[in-house]
Amino acid sequence: MPAYSHILFATDFSQESESAAQRAADLAQRCTARLSLIHVVEFSPLDYGGEQMLPIEMDLEQELADEARKRLERLGERMGAAKSDQHVEIGSTKNEILRVAAATGVDLIVVGSHGRRGLALLLGSTANAVLHSAPCDVLAVRVKGP
Ligand code: AMP
Repeated sequence: MPAYSHILFATDFSQESESAAQRAADLAQRCTARLSLIHVVEFSPLDYGGEQMLPIEMDLEQELADEARKRLERLGERMGAAKSDQHVEIGSTKNEILRVAAATGVDLIVVGSHGRRGLALLLGSTANAVLHSAPCDVLAVRVKGP
């Protein structure tokens, strides 16, 4: 197995992604790799008709991002990811994961095979989308059904 130097773990904070978190932290330790974390806040009323965002919607988006930063900080402490390597982004999950991976020279992206949206597909939509366009290796950690 190649020794990775920079691993990016994408989290939706779900219980299901816990096994992927453990695998990412374990791999980073074994490879003595830098570990980065990302969570993407997908809330964006602009997606729905291109209307100008209302101030209340912008507040809500910021609140979601602030809350995500706190959760990511707790996860970062647990997994051993430096604060400067914790990314909370707003937008499309797939695009933001790929953008941050390219911008920070990641050589492995770790995702759960499925997240909050369930086990109906062979691969969850995020894992699938990331796998198709990633500039580096992708590890989709199997999430088991109930
Ligand atoms: P899904 O495509 O929703 O089944 O999710 C599969 C995996 O993609 C999750 O276990 C996470 O690793 C990642 N993922 C899903 N949503 C997000 C998100 N909003 N931010 C970061 N990673 C995510």
